Amino acid sequence: MSKLQPVRGTRDILGKDIPYFNMVINIAKVFASLYKYDEIVTPIFEFSDIFLRTLGEASDIVSKETYTFSDRDKTSITLRPEFTAGIVRALISNGLTQTLPQKLFTYGPLFRHERPQKARYRQFHQINFEFIGAKDPYSDVETIQLACDILKELGLSQEVKLELNTLGDSTSRQNYKAKLIEYFSRYQADLSPDSQIRLDKNPLRILDSKDEGDKKIILNAPKGHEYLTPQARAYFDKILEGLEYLGIPYSLNEKLVRGLDYYTHTVFEFTTNRLGSQGTVLAGGRYDGLVETMGGPSVPAIGFAAGIERLAELMLELSGEAAENQVFSLIPIGEEAEKYALKLAHDLRKSGFPIDFDFASNVGKRMKRANKIKAHLCLLFGDEELAAKQVKVKDMLTGEESICALDDLVARLRK
Ligand code: ATP
Ligand code: MG
Repeated sequence: MSKLQPVRGTRDILGKDIPYFNMVINIAKVFASLYKYDEIVTPIFEFSDIFLRTLGEASDIVSKETYTFSDRDKTSITLRPEFTAGIVRALISNGLTQTLPQKLFTYGPLFRHERPQKARYRQFHQINFEFIGAKDPYSDVETIQLACDILKELGLSQEVKLELNTLGDSTSRQNYKAKLIEYFSRYQADLSPDSQIRLDKNPLRILDSKDEGDKKIILNAPKGHEYLTPQARAYFDKILEGLEYLGIPYSLNEKLVRGLDYYTHTVFEFTTNRLGSQGTVLAGGRYDGLVETMGGPSVPAIGFAAGIERLAELMLELSGEAAENQVFSLIPIGEEAEKYALKLAHDLRKSGFPIDFDFASNVGKRMKRANKIKAHLCLLFGDEELAAKQVKVKDMLTGEESICALDDLVARLRK
């Protein structure tokens, strides 16, 4: 039998992590509806081509991180390492390109064969937003504003900073690529093996290298903004103007290129320095060519994704402990009271109160459990209280006890 442990890089999410994990999803859902994004759920696996053809051969994901396997009929299948390609596939499969724009929200697990470390797992989760058919610089601004709103609602505004760059249109990129090849070729022998391959396949990706030796060479590499076409420059300037107008602070980072081949124009990341080298909590960009590359019409689009674990770990770190969960404990004393507890628990739950009730126990053990689960109030009752249609209410924080008529109980708990 295999060891009773999760597979390396995967983990069970439970206990104090759960409230934060859920909070990220719930807040993302609230903002999805405020910004009028529709929810979509796509399969966890797709034909491998969906990812291979779109993310780029030289991307980290495709070159070494996918979970790819051969299905029983020998079809190559890949567990999704990111959402965008699958969502664009779904957009085309379902004929949604007929009714643009489409604003789509999703969340769920993703799979990448990475070296596991803090906030970096092999199965992780993201919230993800795609605005397909978005063609105005202000749609970039609105997308960034949506990301800001979510981070703010999660209480992370002070902890993250927005970094922004433009890759320009395809002409800008081609000009820049040529300059980069010229520059990096001079240092070819000193580049990391990964970057030597990138030099051939996608030199822009070298700028994203995490190798220390590469980083030194990158320091003096040509700057992308010098190769922007006037149109690409104007597009970017309008975004910056919009951000300033809305009072969204940002810093320009010309080294920001993002890991995947499909990005054009705007790329952005929200980063923190609290999670070690896993500093990017939310990342996104424009991908004007992707829908067409995948066989659909030419449709501009922009989107972003945020790592739920990274956001949750950041929130946990800031708060020091788990988010409070309101709960009340029932402590019946005597046979009649035990039976009545079943009914009272049900009535209170129906009124929306979380109730904890421990079966086949006694007063001492029940008080202990109430302490352990941090119950706010305990409701104690025996035959005497029930005859008088009352319960004793004990405030677990102050230790104070008072009597409350059953008829007034809901109002008392609401307080
Ligand atoms: P990194 O540079 O940290 O590897 P990335 O550029 O590969 O990140 P994206 O593909 O842009 O990440 O994914 C968006 C977000 O998803 C990241 O900013 C991060 O919050 C989260 N994320 C990515 N990979 C992992 C992982 N292996 N474990 C946990 N979260 C992850
Ligand atoms: Mg990565």
